[in-house]
Amino acid sequence: MVGMWQIDEEEIKKKHFSIKNLGVCYTHFMFDQNKLHITNLKQTKDYTESIIHRRRCLFCNKNKFFFSRGKNCIHHSYIVMGKNIQVPCIGQKKCGALQEYHPLVISTESSKYARYICMVCYEKKGGYVYQRVGRGVKEDPNCDNMSHHENDIKEILEAIGHWILNIATCEKSMWQKKVLIHLVRVITQLNQEKSNNTSDILIPLADTKTEIPSLFIILIILALMKFNYNLDKKLNPKNLTPKNFFEFGEALAHSTILAKNELKLHKKSLESPISIEEYCASFPLCLVQFYNGLLETLYKTKKKIID
Ligand SMILES: [Zn+2]
Ligand SMILES: [Zn+2]
Ligand SMILES: [Zn+2]
Repeated sequence: MVGMWQIDEEEIKKKHFSIKNLGVCYTHFMFDQNKLHITNLKQTKDYTESIIHRRRCLFCNKNKFFFSRGKNCIHHSYIVMGKNIQVPCIGQKKCGALQEYHPLVISTESSKYARYICMVCYEKKGGYVYQRVGRGVKEDPNCDNMSHHENDIKEILEAIGHWILNIATCEKSMWQKKVLIHLVRVITQLNQEKSNNTSDILIPLADTKTEIPSLFIILIILALMKFNYNLDKKLNPKNLTPKNFFEFGEALAHSTILAKNELKLHKKSLESPISIEEYCASFPLCLVQFYNGLLETLYKTKKKIID
C-alpha cells in the first residue's frame, strides 16, 4: 500500500501489531496503487518504511490505528489553521471535503505534530468515503468534489451559531469581547454591501473569496478551537437555562396548536383506534418526538446504570 489507511483494531491485535502479518488483499493493494495515487508514488517509499500509528481522533478522542508507508501520504496531507491534519486517503478519493482553501487549508508533504481523523468521524462531520462502483453501474453514486455538499452552507451557519452561543455561556469575558468586536465588524461590512447594491446577489469585496469552505473544514477549525460540534445533537444541555425550557414548553404548545387541524382529520382514529400504532401515528409529530426524546434518553441512561 502507498497511502494512509485506517485499520481495524481487532485485526491488528490478532496479528500482534506486525506489519508483515497484516495481510492486504490484492484488490485493495492494486486500488491503492492505481486509483488512489499516481503509480510512481509507490517507488519513492520502501516497504520497510511502513508504520502502524496508534492515534487519538481529533473528534471522538478514541484511539484508532492507521497504516502508512513512510510517515504519511504526501499527496493527502493538509495543514488546517496551522495544524497538520491526517485523513485516510480513501476518504479523499473524489470527495472534496478536505482540500486547499487558502490561507486556512494548505497542502503539505509533512505530518509533523499531526492530528488524525477516523473514518467514522469523517463521515459524521460532512465527508463522504469512496464506495467501490461495481461493473455495469452507469451512475457513480460517489461525491464528486462538492456534489454531495448542498447542505454545507446551512449546516456551517448553524455550527457557527452554536459556537457563538457556547462563547456567550461559558467563555471568559475577554474572549467574549474579542469575538463580539469581530462579529460587529462583519455585520457592519455586510450591511454596507447590502445598501451598496439593491440586487439580492451579494457582490464580494475585492479581498474576499467567493468559494465556500466545506462543512468538514469548518468543523475541524471549531474542534481545533476546542468546540466539538455534534451534527446529531445540536443542543448542549450545559448551555441551557431553566428559562430556555419554559420557552421550549411554549414553542411545543404553539406547534401543537398549529397541528390542531391535522388532529381533526384523525379524530376517528384517536377516539376509537384499531391499534396502538394507529393511535400514536395520529398524534402531532412535535409531541411524539418530544416524548420519544425524553423517555428514550431516560430509559437508555437507566439501562446503562443497571448494566
Ligand atoms: Zn494518499
Ligand atoms: Zn473519530
Ligand atoms: Zn464530498
